[in-house]
Amino acid sequence: MITGRLAPSPTGAQHLGNARTFLLAYWSVRRSGGSLRLRIEDVDSPRVKPWAAQQAIDDLQWLGIDWDGEPIVQTERLDLYHTALDQLIANNSVYPCTCSRKDIAEAASAPHESTFRGEGPVYPGTCSHWQSGDTLPPEGSFCWRFRARDATIEFDDLVLGRQSCNPAQTLGDFPVTQKTGSPSYQLAVVVDDADQVVTEIVRGDDLVASTFRQLDLINALGYEVPSYAHVPLVTGPDGRRLAKRHGDTRLSHFRERGVAPERIVGWAANSAGLIDTRGPVTATELISSFGWQQLNRNPVVVDDTEFAPPSTP
Ligand code: GLU
Repeated sequence: MITGRLAPSPTGAQHLGNARTFLLAYWSVRRSGGSLRLRIEDVDSPRVKPWAAQQAIDDLQWLGIDWDGEPIVQTERLDLYHTALDQLIANNSVYPCTCSRKDIAEAASAPHESTFRGEGPVYPGTCSHWQSGDTLPPEGSFCWRFRARDATIEFDDLVLGRQSCNPAQTLGDFPVTQKTGSPSYQLAVVVDDADQVVTEIVRGDDLVASTFRQLDLINALGYEVPSYAHVPLVTGPDGRRLAKRHGDTRLSHFRERGVAPERIVGWAANSAGLIDTRGPVTATELISSFGWQQLNRNPVVVDDTEFAPPSTP
């Protein structure tokens, strides 16, 4: 039986692209009779907005998506991440790193950019000589950085097919905490997915690089590997990832303007290739139509005129 999850980050409003990903996760789990968990991913504290978690919950309910059990909130589970970190320290899988972003950019004579877009330079290994048991730098001056494996990692994505990468060569060692000691997204997600026994992860295809990092962490922590479905991103008419520049595509904006959620669901299902019309249709009505093999693999273009109210005479 599948266990899936919805994992909104309360760093801003949820938009049409998020709605589409949530609906696909929901349809896949409900089609299989599995269970769906909700998790608020709020460890990225400087960017977290106090109103955004409740708004994401309201958006999901408005779309007609339901989940099982109580939502979990990452900042209420810090002990769990610290226990996993201790395991990584004991394994010598991580080392304290005092480098700043600037140090990293300057350290390599020809900084080696990751081949994944937007992933920044590959860490040059400056602090990696540290071994478990060595003296630690002063508190607050270092993050814990994970030693990426120098081997090919592969997985079969439900949407993208077989993916492969050598994390050490392509992505480099990556932080699992910030200098403040709080866990990074990568560590928190892996610990939560294992703790919630998540077996299917549905998310945007901008996170494929993160998946290789997470597979590496899963291996170091001895967790079970889930299956992955990386779904095409929703872009604006200029082909760039949906953002403010494309107008207001926040779900709360449509909700406040009285747009029926069935129209958003119809758009999501139609753009995903699940139905031939744009609805209106409820999320529940579409459960039986879902199948990964039908999924449209191309990026989906949208703008804020998509759900404009009918013009009044
Ligand atoms: N919290 C992330 C987001 O909202 C999703 C991360 C994940 O699915 O692992 O984009």
